[in-house]
Amino acid sequence: MEKQRKEKRIVVLGGGESGVGAAILATKKGFDVFLSDAGSIKAKYKEMLRKYSIAWEENSHNLELILTADEVVKSPGIPDRVPVVQEILKKGIPVISEIEFAGRYTNAYKICITGSNGKTTTTTLIYHMMRKAGLNVGLAGNVGNSFALQVAEHEFDYYVIELSSFQLDGVHSFKPDIAILLNISPDHLDRYDYKMENYVNSKFRITKNLSEDEYFIFCSDDEVTMDRVNQIVFKAQLLPFSQQREEGQTAFLRENSMFVNYNDSDFSMSINDLALKGRHNVYNSMAAGIAGHALHIRKDVIRESLSDFQGVEHRLERFLKVRGVQYINDSKATNVNSTWYALECMDTPVVWIAGGTDKGNDYTELFPLVRDKVKALICLGVDNAKLHMAFSDKVPVIVDVRSAQEAVAYAYRLSEPGDTVLLSPACASFDLFENYEDRGRQFKQAVRNL
Ligand code: ADP
Repeated sequence: MEKQRKEKRIVVLGGGESGVGAAILATKKGFDVFLSDAGSIKAKYKEMLRKYSIAWEENSHNLELILTADEVVKSPGIPDRVPVVQEILKKGIPVISEIEFAGRYTNAYKICITGSNGKTTTTTLIYHMMRKAGLNVGLAGNVGNSFALQVAEHEFDYYVIELSSFQLDGVHSFKPDIAILLNISPDHLDRYDYKMENYVNSKFRITKNLSEDEYFIFCSDDEVTMDRVNQIVFKAQLLPFSQQREEGQTAFLRENSMFVNYNDSDFSMSINDLALKGRHNVYNSMAAGIAGHALHIRKDVIRESLSDFQGVEHRLERFLKVRGVQYINDSKATNVNSTWYALECMDTPVVWIAGGTDKGNDYTELFPLVRDKVKALICLGVDNAKLHMAFSDKVPVIVDVRSAQEAVAYAYRLSEPGDTVLLSPACASFDLFENYEDRGRQFKQAVRNL
């Protein structure tokens, strides 16, 4: 027999950043809270759970304690197919994301960013702009502290929130004030039954609850996005951006300048003055520029922010020049599309370091760029067969290495003044590194040691 309980019981699955944030917020709101993680919980998070006297378990799921929940907050890393989630769903217990949960406890204005690539960059750029404008704003989601933790511990007027498709999967009533969808290219399809349509559905959940007062900023050069946009009747105000056409666009490119045409304002800026280089970053800057206008941020502040933003580590990070060779750390390029943009904006011969855990990559779209620009390919992975197959007839020199240090040593030998050494792997890092940050850091350390 289930005991009569006074408080609503919230069970949190996953003891990482978002789960622990949700557990703390739920505790502060007076719920009976239990957190469960099938793996081990990091010391830092255990400490936080202890501080708030939250009950938790690790390395297993106790179904008896879990299935008494009124509601389950599931961390984005846990797929629906795992047995514990199946049991919860079978019992009819609602499963939501930390974003959905935290959204209930704040009236702050929310700018939410999703897309297959460019989320962290654009989120951080908009945050930078809003800080410069003097707004009381928190940076949340996949970057920095979780949204829930900040709602629990701060009183921000605004949040800029990076949302992955996994976070959007658990969103039901959550409503952004400004929703930004940067682009959609295949990624994480293993979590979506290998169906692109499911992944697209997930991304479009960001627009699900928008009404007339809200804004939807999106890229009209992105075919996958536009296919879906054309099928939906939106209530929100649509603010598209494009580098291919001007008509009907809120932001567009004319010659070498980026324009934002919002409520007849006449904002324009040479792309040479944008802090972030490369075509993909022009898109990111357009999205941020439109958001800035919708937020009524002064034009000079928008301009300054777009031109003095420092960028984010591991994203096309121009790290050091050694002996006339520029070393770039783009370790976060874990799919083919982001590497395409990295290669696209190279204007010198490139020694390219790529490889790692392949996520079912199709390298075909890289062929013309690689033929044109890459003088040597250094394969940094346990199994490099696929890279060899794809590029052996396109790149004069291909070598295999097993460490960042070895990769940089080869790069040093194979490059000459004026070249660029680009770490842009197009693959995940887990075969040789802890994660992409570890890969990027080891690369930079090796460059420093040259
Ligand atoms: P996300 O948070 O979506 O993974 P990041 O901002 O961390 O995106 O960037 C990931 C990778 O994608 C980096 O290699 C970066 O240079 C590249 N990138 C950034 N913006 C875009 C974009 N708009 N389109 C394609 N690639 C991009």
